[in-house]
Amino acid sequence: MQTQPQASHFIDGEYVEDTGGTPIDVIYPATGAVIARVHSATPAIVERAVASAQAAQAAWAAMSGTERGRILRRAADMIRDRNHDLSVLETWDTGKPYQETSVADATSGADALEYFGGMAATLTGQHIQLGEDWVYTRREPLGVCVGIGAWNYPTQIACWKGAPALACGNTMIFKPSETTPLCALKVAEILVEAGLPKGVYNVVQGLGDVGAALVGHADVDKVSLTGSVPTGRKVYAAAAAGMKHVTMELGGKSPLVIFDDADVDNAVSGAILGNFYSSGQVCSNGTRVFVQKGIKEAFLTRLTERLKGARMGDPMDPDTSFGPMVSQRQMDIVLGYIAKGQDEGARLVTGGNQVGQEGFWVEPTVFADVTDDMVIAQEEIFGPVMAVLDFDTEEEVMTRANATEFGLAAGVYTRDLARAHRVAAGFEAGTCFINSYNDAPVEAPFGGVKQSGVGRENSSAAIEHYSQVKSVYVRMGDTEAPF
Ligand code: NAD
Repeated sequence: MQTQPQASHFIDGEYVEDTGGTPIDVIYPATGAVIARVHSATPAIVERAVASAQAAQAAWAAMSGTERGRILRRAADMIRDRNHDLSVLETWDTGKPYQETSVADATSGADALEYFGGMAATLTGQHIQLGEDWVYTRREPLGVCVGIGAWNYPTQIACWKGAPALACGNTMIFKPSETTPLCALKVAEILVEAGLPKGVYNVVQGLGDVGAALVGHADVDKVSLTGSVPTGRKVYAAAAAGMKHVTMELGGKSPLVIFDDADVDNAVSGAILGNFYSSGQVCSNGTRVFVQKGIKEAFLTRLTERLKGARMGDPMDPDTSFGPMVSQRQMDIVLGYIAKGQDEGARLVTGGNQVGQEGFWVEPTVFADVTDDMVIAQEEIFGPVMAVLDFDTEEEVMTRANATEFGLAAGVYTRDLARAHRVAAGFEAGTCFINSYNDAPVEAPFGGVKQSGVGRENSSAAIEHYSQVKSVYVRMGDTEAPF
């Protein structure tokens, strides 16, 4: 498969190159081989992208919701038709196994385009009667939106941001992570093939400085970032200087609480999904696994057995179920945390090692007897490292589960229904799971509280973050004034 894109950027409906920008090598994480090269956007490219998005916005917003939505839904169908090729590209970009990418990436992007495509025609204002007078509201687009992505879900993030933005009549400039620049270009290409007018969805490549140039641009009205908390702080502050709207989808260190009445195999499945899917590179992962003492040994025994089924190997082989870290840098960070966990006295139950000489592979790793004060229980690792902590009572575990600056997600396993809902209500987190973990259907709001973010993606909640309400007062009689 051709991994080198036609050009680095996609602006005004076509591929655009400017080799004056810093070269960015695209590395296949499974082997470390360079598979493509793009160039970071120069200031001229940034200007061109913003000008194109700005010029296209009014005509796009003037189309009816039905017309806009039809294009998004057509793009969704095309993405589904091309799922195999897009999944292979996602695997080249991220190293995630095809077994995952073929069911979780382009398909999830298509869901967002279909969902918001369907919703576009339903977006309306309100009518508010005030005696004879009345007010009506218009739901209007924000204007030019910038989307900035992380590297773990490049196709999904490009669609999760683009679909609601475009449904509301905005235009978008999307900057993928410099680590995974390939997939968003395909999303832009497909949207245009589906009939999207030129300039409505643009992609520019680059590192943080290009993101910062877009966020600081006077003609940009909204910024949606998926990234780490430190980047979120910088982007939020820069957006505030221009009084821009923001959505912040940031990091986490989420708790997964397993009570001793839980079904052990289901709880183990939840812990596996919440720690080892995408080799642990998922923002909402439940990496602090609190296990009630009565079930602890049974949980660890079953978990260790089940992890023997994780299959590393060629990510393109459909039987491979566990892939590499996205980069050398991320592997080094993860190995550093594993060493830290051992230094701090956590018990290494399984894993802990780098695998092979080529690529960025780390074994699925489980630490038990982890305590709240350990660094591996406090900081986001973003790799396949599970910390198992013991607890006695519900009251105790709720205090400990919430004792973190993060608040992205949280999960609970129990057969006691009243307790499940009480615990979900008590979690300080934006996205919670009962007897499940890490489901992210487009119909449900997704996002964090505390340091983990601002705003929500997916569902009708996303519409609030890509549109604004104008109210229009209509007087039916004379206008009275005091003099
Ligand atoms: P990162 O914060 O390093 O980078 C994210 C993006 O921001 C990249 O595209 C980067 O180029 C850009 N960027 C960096 N500095 C910038 C600046 N000053 N101005 C504008 N843009 C800038 O994150 P990452 O390492 O790519 O991804 C991992 C992080 O993302 C983790 O913390 C993870 O939890 C988080 N994440 C969150 C979600 C979510 O939905 N909440 C989803 C996936 C990943």
